[in-house]
Amino acid sequence: VKINEIFTSIQGEGVNTGIPMTFIRLQGCDVSCSWCDTKESWDSNLGYDLSIQETVKLIKADYACITGGEPCLQDLIKLTQAIKANGKTITLETSGTQPIKGCFDWVTLSPKLNFKKPIKDNIRLADEIKFLVGKKQDIQTIKTFIDDNAINSCIISIQPISLSEAATQLCIDNCIQNNWHLSLQSHKFINIR
Ligand code: SF4
Repeated sequence: VKINEIFTSIQGEGVNTGIPMTFIRLQGCDVSCSWCDTKESWDSNLGYDLSIQETVKLIKADYACITGGEPCLQDLIKLTQAIKANGKTITLETSGTQPIKGCFDWVTLSPKLNFKKPIKDNIRLADEIKFLVGKKQDIQTIKTFIDDNAINSCIISIQPISLSEAATQLCIDNCIQNNWHLSLQSHKFINIR
C-alpha cells in the first residue's frame, strides 16, 4: 500500500464526528482542488510503501478511516479484507472519481464538483455525501447534482470551506431549509488533527 501517513485521532467531520479513528491517508490524488490542505498527498511517486500486515498493526482505534489523497486510486480489496479480519470498522472518504474497490462499513463521498465529478456508480454506494460550500453558487450546484442523480436515500452534509464566517452562516441556513447535516471540521476547534 502506498501510504502518506497513518495517525490516530478523533473524526472531526461529517456524521461520524467524535468517533476515535485511525486515519490511513493514502498517497496520490488526481483531483487537484485549489484549496486542498493535503497537497503533499498528490504525487503518487512520494509517500512510502507499507505491507498490508504492517498497516493493519498500526490501527489502534476500533475504526479505520481510509482517506487520501484519493484513496481509490489504489485497489483496497486486500487491505480492507485484512482490516475486517482484525475486527475493525472501516470507513472510506473519497471524492468518488475512481471505482471503489474494497469492503467498507461506511462510505463518505465528498464530490469536488468544480474540479472532477464523481462517477455515477459510486453515488449509490455512499452512506453520506459531504459537499464543501464557499459561496451561494455552491448551494445551487449541490441542488442540481442531487436532482440530476436522484439522490434521496443518503445523508447530505455540507461543510463551510475554511470555516469562514460567511460560508458557515450560509451552511447553517441551508441545513435548516433543506434538512441537511452541518459538518464543521470540529478537530480544528480543539487543535487536533
Ligand atoms: S480530492 Fe481531496 S486530496 Fe485530492 S485535491 Fe481534492 S481535497 Fe485534496
